[in-house]
Amino acid sequence: MSASYPLQSLKAGNWFKLICGASFQDLPAIRTLVLAYALAGADCVDVAADPAVVTAAKEALNIAKKLVNNQKYPIFSQKRTLWLMVSLNDGEDPHFRKAYFDAQHCPSDCFHPCETICPPRAIIEIKRGSFGVLESRCYGCGRCISICPYQLVKTRSYLVSPKEMIPLIQRMGIDAIEIHTQVGRETQFKQLWQAIAPWISHLKLLSISCPDGCGLIEYLHYLYDIISPLPIPLIWQMDGRPMSGDIGKGSTHATIKLAQKVLNAQIPGFVQLAGGTNNHTVSKLREIGLLTPSISSTLVVSGIAYGSYARSVLSPIVRQLETQSINLNLQSVLEDQPDLLLKAFKIAKFIVLSLKSSKF
Ligand code: SF4
Ligand code: SF4
Repeated sequence: MSASYPLQSLKAGNWFKLICGASFQDLPAIRTLVLAYALAGADCVDVAADPAVVTAAKEALNIAKKLVNNQKYPIFSQKRTLWLMVSLNDGEDPHFRKAYFDAQHCPSDCFHPCETICPPRAIIEIKRGSFGVLESRCYGCGRCISICPYQLVKTRSYLVSPKEMIPLIQRMGIDAIEIHTQVGRETQFKQLWQAIAPWISHLKLLSISCPDGCGLIEYLHYLYDIISPLPIPLIWQMDGRPMSGDIGKGSTHATIKLAQKVLNAQIPGFVQLAGGTNNHTVSKLREIGLLTPSISSTLVVSGIAYGSYARSVLSPIVRQLETQSINLNLQSVLEDQPDLLLKAFKIAKFIVLSLKSSKF
């Protein structure tokens, strides 16, 4: 097993990252997702910078290691190194917020569209008779805000500071970090970088995530100058339409367009897609020659990060385990249920292979 396998995937243009969500803290769901995608051959999993979340992800990674050595499951034969990534932000960002509302103000005849639209089912009856947002599940997508006919849903944003991040790097075996920034945050990014820079050589990879904006290319050049010289590989994560991959086919276009723009600018570093990636992304990239170098162009993306789409395809399994846990009053885990484990593995494997295998 090569320790640098994820880096080889970046170089080969088939890097696969699972995004659990910078503010998603549903520990049983994270454990299930990380286990399924680790077994399926993901190169990286990106989780919230929360010790409990990192612990749940690491537990899943350890189980994945044991399962690939278990003769009962020859299907898990692929031994892989996987990097664990956590994210921080240099300012307000939808990935770092939680929704809330006071249900006492909701009209009694409201048909609860917020509840129906919430992808991780964070809007529930939290305690008997008390309806609201279960914070650990909310990852800030904002769909409940726009659908509430009475504009009752608000959000609380927060910053993950280097102070919280550094102990994770020191003590929890984090391999990579991702800085979420936006065009125009030169000062904030610089301040954050000054605090992180002394620790950067302890990591294997830096990712910088940025959505499109006026002056994007100049901004990325500016960031590159600040972080140079960088002793580790760099990914530019192009966040086309944040947290939208599960919405439908069209959501993938924004991230592809954005990646093209950044590739054409030829800023040093790997370019990876995110924000709107789904089951249409790979075929679209192949169609326009952005996944494999061709005679006409060597400008290609290095990989894809899947967030809401990768989570949504496994949500029936996550829900099934959750229901069992409630009924049994005991946490039901994926590895204890061979049929469910194989089902989750096959679903995750299909998505990973669609990127990693040229047969798709
Ligand atoms: S719809 Fe999105 S923002 Fe609203 S509670 Fe659900 S996850 Fe949070
Ligand atoms: S949609 Fe708005 S008013 Fe209706 S239940 Fe949800 S938060 Fe309350």
